[in-house]
Amino acid sequence: MNDLSVGELALTGGEPVLGELAPVGWPLTTDADRAAVLSVLDSNVFVSDRPNEPTAVERLERSWAEYLGVRRCVGVSNGTTAIELALLAHGVGPGDEVVVPALTFVATAMAVVHVGATPVYADVDPVTFTMSADSLTALITERTKAVVPVHLHGLSADMDVIDGIARRHGLVVIEDAAQAQGARYRGTPVGASGNTATFSLQMTKNLPTCGEGGLVVTDDDGVADRIVQLRQFGETIRPDRPRRYVSHRLGFNAKLNNVQAAYTSSQLERFPEYHEARRANVAAFLDRLRDLDNLLCPSEPDGYEHAWHILRFVPDLDRIFPGTDTASARNLLIRALRAEGLPATRYQMMPLPEQPALRSVCRQERGSWPVTQDVVDRSFTLQQRHLAPDSGPLLQSFADVIEKVWSQRKVLAELAEGADR
Ligand SMILES: *Cc1c(COP(=O)(O)O)cnc(C)c1O
Repeated sequence: MNDLSVGELALTGGEPVLGELAPVGWPLTTDADRAAVLSVLDSNVFVSDRPNEPTAVERLERSWAEYLGVRRCVGVSNGTTAIELALLAHGVGPGDEVVVPALTFVATAMAVVHVGATPVYADVDPVTFTMSADSLTALITERTKAVVPVHLHGLSADMDVIDGIARRHGLVVIEDAAQAQGARYRGTPVGASGNTATFSLQMTKNLPTCGEGGLVVTDDDGVADRIVQLRQFGETIRPDRPRRYVSHRLGFNAKLNNVQAAYTSSQLERFPEYHEARRANVAAFLDRLRDLDNLLCPSEPDGYEHAWHILRFVPDLDRIFPGTDTASARNLLIRALRAEGLPATRYQMMPLPEQPALRSVCRQERGSWPVTQDVVDRSFTLQQRHLAPDSGPLLQSFADVIEKVWSQRKVLAELAEGADR
């Protein structure tokens, strides 16, 4: 521990560890990315439905399929649409139940509702934050059609176990890998398990575009062909003939555009390098925090390669702040960290089914997700700042902040007691 850890807390008037942070440097745009985007602007070929030319969208689809080692990749307008179209292409619709985790970004469940199916929420594991297999098993009924495990924060769900359950019950598996580009599970890249998987290219994700985009990958040609139709008004566009304007199924306009695709293709060239740098930076950061008392740090279980999209910490608030209610303790801790300059945020404020937009379509009782509730009540996250390959020094100063606040946690606990009286 260095001398920063002994100073007075910034919350009570001490010197903060960090000054004002520079703007978030993600995505990191290089001259190569600029040239890629400009070449699309100069080509006048902007959409993916144009026959006779290999478009930037097709090039991205090919390189992402190659990177993962899957048969097919289809570019779509964003990661939420990717889930919707994947569900539809697998025949999920009205009357079907789809199991999703209670801890994820809201889009996972919204996609299920938008295809007319009912989301059913499984609890998560308290250490990995991904779907609990026991919880999934307990929720399966004769109406269950599909399960959407989420590789939350960049860590794969336990797919051997989930795939096994799905196989026994005849369920479709669609993996929401929006946060997990680059992650691996037992040596296999996330998305290459044989299931249909969806990715987001939204600008905050690990493989970003300069806006919005999504990718669906699958080894099933039928699924891929249906998604190609669904993104294009239900039409079949073929390179060997002009567009016919015949819609074979009720589709959407969910195309990815060539500007977004060219930017991501250019990013993809540096992606393996960024992934490795991020892994080294985050490992060095977590090494400094792992031994702090009463703090559960994000971790990488054996057999998993984490993509570190989001870093979530779960402090044991009951131990640090005995006698203080959880919400007050959490808020005080986050205020103390932020006062030192650490951009800690909560991210999810509630289990997904308790989102106002989803409450009315949830048939489960409140309180059915005790682990999710506990994680949401206690944890804080770090996002985006650690994604760039040069984030190592910043992460070291983040560790200074956390060490300082932890070394002063008795002072904080006394503050909390004072506030309670
Ligand atoms: C970002 C995200 C999505 C949605 O992706 P968009 O491209 O923003 O629509 C879906 N699921 C998870 C887990 C995400 O993090």
